[in-house]
Amino acid sequence: MSNGSTFPPRRRFGGTLVVVLAALLAACAAGWLIWRSTSGHGGDRPPKALPAASPSSPGGPPGKGGTGGTGAGDDGGRPTPGDPDDKGDRPGPGGHTGTRLKGRTVLLDPGHNPANRDHTREIARQVDVGNGRKECDTTGTSTNDGYAEASFTLDVARRARTLLRAEGAKVVFTQDGDRPYGPCVDERARAGNEAKADAAVSVHADGAGAGNRGFHVILPARVTAGAADTSAIVGPSRRLGEHLAGRFVAATGSAPANYLGGGTGLVVRSDLGGLNLSGIPKVFLECGNMRDAKDAAQLTDPQWREKAARGIAEGITGFLTE
Ligand code: ZN
Repeated sequence: MSNGSTFPPRRRFGGTLVVVLAALLAACAAGWLIWRSTSGHGGDRPPKALPAASPSSPGGPPGKGGTGGTGAGDDGGRPTPGDPDDKGDRPGPGGHTGTRLKGRTVLLDPGHNPANRDHTREIARQVDVGNGRKECDTTGTSTNDGYAEASFTLDVARRARTLLRAEGAKVVFTQDGDRPYGPCVDERARAGNEAKADAAVSVHADGAGAGNRGFHVILPARVTAGAADTSAIVGPSRRLGEHLAGRFVAATGSAPANYLGGGTGLVVRSDLGGLNLSGIPKVFLECGNMRDAKDAAQLTDPQWREKAARGIAEGITGFLTE
């Protein structure tokens, strides 16, 4: 799909601006429709590009494939290019300032921690993730210019929190830049369980090679090992992921990843403690690839991050109101 990285368009293009912008929006809409047609909203499950390494992950959860209609059909909250960066009390997802999420709890998990780099020994500690052991946490990646993934995840999660609160949700963070490091991945999972959250999203950005572009949502595989049992969350987490992917496309104009997921923007994994140990619907969102210059131009743009946050908030809202 065309690159959303041309937002905001430069004024010097003058008269061609409108034409370029119209073409860009048309391309984004087309990409979104293509994504919709292949993503399972109509009932077909998207193919899994990354088979779970663990015993299970059968072809699909028992769900009915998502209602589709709630999620992505309307265009109410679509941002316009060049939206001012506004972290204040803007209307919530869908243009409402309301109560659609009143009584609901959302866990947002900003991936990594900006201070992890100063605590490499502590975060290297191994923790039990059910089907194995993993590092407590990692430092995350960064753009080639040094913008840290951990800074990105905190910023986007905070923006999404503002939007979700505007819909009446209670929003819980695993960390808010208020800890020396971590928390560990098992604690991140437990935070959602203990909050009895209705949905959880772990916010990340990837560190793949240049030329690899786009976002993807990571869904929990069916894992039953040790302390892990994702049986009950595989189905609802997929629906959460589908809502999230559809809304992320619409809000940001980004395309599903071109390097994994088979173009669906959805990937299943069994090796992430944050998913294995979750008892509530949870997904990871890799918003883009920090090591690709075009993706990095978006990830470092506050206006794009606001759009990303809106996609996240609308995806969660779609899932919780389907
Ligand atoms: Zn990450």
